[in-house]
Amino acid sequence: MARIKIADKAGACYGVERALELAWTAVSGTSDDVFTLGPLIHNPRVVSSLDAMGAHEASAVDEAAGATIILRTHGVTPQEEERARAICAHVIDATCPFVKKVHVAVEKLMEEGYQVLVVGESGHPEVEATLAHAPGALAVCSAEEARALDLGPRVGIVVQTTQSLATLESVLKAIDDGAREVKLVNTICEATSSRQEAAAQLASEVGAMVVIGGRNSANTTRLAEICRSICGRTFHIEQPEELQRSWFEGVESIGITAGASTPSSQIASVVSTLEALTRRECR
Ligand code: SF4
Repeated sequence: MARIKIADKAGACYGVERALELAWTAVSGTSDDVFTLGPLIHNPRVVSSLDAMGAHEASAVDEAAGATIILRTHGVTPQEEERARAICAHVIDATCPFVKKVHVAVEKLMEEGYQVLVVGESGHPEVEATLAHAPGALAVCSAEEARALDLGPRVGIVVQTTQSLATLESVLKAIDDGAREVKLVNTICEATSSRQEAAAQLASEVGAMVVIGGRNSANTTRLAEICRSICGRTFHIEQPEELQRSWFEGVESIGITAGASTPSSQIASVVSTLEALTRRECR
């Protein structure tokens, strides 16, 4: 049987556990409808189990009028929050406190007169919510994008909490021309950096890596990219049923990591499926 090792830091982070607790408490305390604004977290399996428990995904605040609404972990725009407080019976704010810090940081940079850049993926809910807290701010996700911008003499930067340090450094290098004042508030979350470091370390020690988490999860996708750059046999899965025995033929050790929105129960089910698969290979 192949040796299976889990990264020292892997799986659900503080912000996700807090959001899930809030959602479970909300659905267990009422028989009324409960909604989450967008997926509470980027983990389709967990979102569908929340739906079965009575916390349904709403694509807009107005779908939850008169009911309880839970603001998602990635944060919402000020306009969405204001609307929710105006038309919903109860508003439960599950925005991760570390994401809230990014909102405070962009607002402060704006007040200080900086041109604000958010290093992160345009279109990602966290980045879109952050941009809405600083009208006029721009999202940038690569050195090429940064070089194409027409920037002024004072630039203030915050970072998507799940962004990689390498992307931040490449953007900084691209815009720092020596003459421009650049103020960085590094808002990469510690849960992100510690999971990325542990995944990279493990990927360098094993013959194959399995990365567990939603394909719509930015931090999980980034973990997979990091692992793949080190270990060619890296597989990103959402559930154990996707595992294939052929992926691990001839592999003596398999590393496992998981995105910040992956509960420990999902990691455990992948480990037991892997054990069964690789045990059969040895027979
Ligand atoms: S990764 Fe960090 S910022 Fe994102 S939810 Fe988890 S603790 Fe919060």
